Amino acid sequence: MDLVLSGGRVIDPESGFDEVADVGIAGDRVVSVSTAPLECPTRIDVSGLVVCPGFVDLHSHGQAIPEQRLQALDGVTTALELEAGTTPVRVAYAKAGAEGRPLNYGYATSWALARMVELIGAQPGPSLHAILNHLGDPGWQAPATTKQRVRIFQRLYDDLADGALGIGILVGYAPHVDPNEFVAMAGLAAQAGVPTYTHARPLIDVDPGVPVDGATEIIRAAGETGAHMHYCHVNSTSARRIEKVRTLLDKAMAEGAPVTVEAYPYGAGSTAIGAAFLAPEALKRSDLRPSDIVVVATGERIADEKRLLELRAADPGALVIVHFLDEDNPVDRDHLVRALAYPGGAIASDAVPLTWSGPPPPPTTWPLPPGALVHPRSAGTFAKSLRTLWREHGVLSLTEVISRCSLIPAQVLEKAVPAMRRKGRLKAGSDADVLVFDPDRITDQATYVDGVRPSIGVVHLLVNGSFVVRDSSLVLDSMPGRPIRGSMSLSAKAE
Ligand SMILES: [Zn+2]
Repeated sequence: MDLVLSGGRVIDPESGFDEVADVGIAGDRVVSVSTAPLECPTRIDVSGLVVCPGFVDLHSHGQAIPEQRLQALDGVTTALELEAGTTPVRVAYAKAGAEGRPLNYGYATSWALARMVELIGAQPGPSLHAILNHLGDPGWQAPATTKQRVRIFQRLYDDLADGALGIGILVGYAPHVDPNEFVAMAGLAAQAGVPTYTHARPLIDVDPGVPVDGATEIIRAAGETGAHMHYCHVNSTSARRIEKVRTLLDKAMAEGAPVTVEAYPYGAGSTAIGAAFLAPEALKRSDLRPSDIVVVATGERIADEKRLLELRAADPGALVIVHFLDEDNPVDRDHLVRALAYPGGAIASDAVPLTWSGPPPPPTTWPLPPGALVHPRSAGTFAKSLRTLWREHGVLSLTEVISRCSLIPAQVLEKAVPAMRRKGRLKAGSDADVLVFDPDRITDQATYVDGVRPSIGVVHLLVNGSFVVRDSSLVLDSMPGRPIRGSMSLSAKAE
């Protein structure tokens, strides 16, 4: 053994193991979890601390080094870009591999970017900005000809053959797209044995103009094609209609439909100001006002419709924060908790890339210099979940919260990616992606005003057996993150 974490409260959400024990690590694996002391020259006393599997974030758009460091201090060991996805995934994996990453990384292919490339000649590329810059352009949302659709699907297929973790479907940003195209994508995912990750269309009672209800579409596609349909951030797309969505999900799950959900613990979202659902008429339908939107780069709260239209025209890719629930209002807070506590649901951050008020510093600069702006979920989702759902309000047990942050997201992927069976667990044979945190102190510090304040309470964080956080500080030269890839490439080669 190279290392023993000694005397911590060890929690394995899969078996329910919850005892004071030693955790032995050799290389990149956990080799022993033992209530009897383990012998090793390197023993680290972690008594009084919780030792659990590192968190697996299914929804992280923050795919560069500074964003990953904020997530490391929030307990994350694997951060995946699945909802937006990217294309070509080959380029994204190569870039991350060449630059090095503190955390494990991986990508779905991107239906939205594939459409943007095909319909409006957008430049493909691994940055989320490749998508954000065109998100509000109606051109990519137009009906596709048969020829165009063939090329879009060929791109998705090629990415899956290159190891993409599934298909990211931002259909909520193209709410009038042909529902048959959505079902066809689910069919491709079913064939490839990978999940889809959907940002749902509006619910039909919010926007009676959509061709299909956003929640029903996801559930129906699972039933019709057998594809695993993962329903992204059910908190933000359901908002005050979470009970309706829960009822639909309950029924689908009772019938065995392969649907999973995720949520993040904030009453505000963050996206490009050009998004279809932020158009003045769409805002009204969602009971939102322009003043519920704040521009990330300037802090401007949008005064009225006229200003909203100006900003959408001037820089449609600019990131904004949208307050869709009021966390200070007990009724709204309850809606949020209902989304977070959905049976079997994952916690996923929807972390976004940092916006800089001036020129960005070199990516390895730490601590972050002043001028970095972002939605607080990028830094605080997981610590906030532990603080609010477990410690302060007792909505869920400690093991349940840990499970939603580690085991449950690993399970979403493990059929398509067998390597995920070694993540989200803490037992002999697991990957040594291990989180050690102080249960009394763990808390988020990021706010809507200062979104990059790192969480506190993460004492140690190991990724593939290497410290990324040690004694509550980042190990700045530690880049042990590895790619997580789908296995369709293997079956395609075998054919
Ligand atoms: Zn989304």
